[in-house]
Amino acid sequence: MADQDDTRAQLAEHLRLLRDLGVEGVSRDPAWRERAGTADARPAIETLTVIRDDLGDCTRCKLHRLGRQQIVFGVGHPSAALMFIGEAPGHDEDVQGVPFVGRAGQLLTKIIEAIDLTRDEVYIANIVKCRPPENRNPEPDEVAACEPFVFRQVQAIQPKVIVALGTSAAQTLLRTKDPISRLRGNVFQYGNARLIPTFHPAYLLRSPEHKRDVWEDMKKVRALLRKDAPETA
Ligand code: URA
Repeated sequence: MADQDDTRAQLAEHLRLLRDLGVEGVSRDPAWRERAGTADARPAIETLTVIRDDLGDCTRCKLHRLGRQQIVFGVGHPSAALMFIGEAPGHDEDVQGVPFVGRAGQLLTKIIEAIDLTRDEVYIANIVKCRPPENRNPEPDEVAACEPFVFRQVQAIQPKVIVALGTSAAQTLLRTKDPISRLRGNVFQYGNARLIPTFHPAYLLRSPEHKRDVWEDMKKVRALLRKDAPETA
């Protein structure tokens, strides 16, 4: 009986925490499994190397002939607890082959450091792996061709928390047309991970008054990461 009371109290505490963190509900949509290529669809978890090899010198969409210099696959810890997903590489990323290294990337680095992590401890990727010309938004056919790779990256890394940076990433991952302004502030269940949509750092450079909102989101990220952390003495 005491055991049951304990379990009930723990469950109530867990639910209160989820509510405080802004979790609105748990997705019952089984389709994410197919989209993410989960264990149901794939017999074993593949490595990032296998996924990168499969991507190859990709010509699956028109971006390969629209001035891309290199594919920007992703960077960071292969089993990071925290994964950031942006939209597509810009000029600096195209030159260096690394996501988020331009001005927006420098701001992202500061955001990561603000929750006491480093870029090496997280994983950073984009929905689309090649730079769209003139930094235009990726087009639907480009997103459709590329998104399986980011879903597979999520499966390989198995992060606890995913931060979707901006409209494109949030809409693609959550299969919604809701704008980021409506999505942010919520925590979504995404397979085994929690997904937190927030403003894109490039948007913050133009609208710094929203940095406060991103900080609120990052505090939720930190709380979620700490929740399951092993106890220290
Ligand atoms: N914006 C993105 O969405 N991704 C990058 O890698 C750089 C800028």
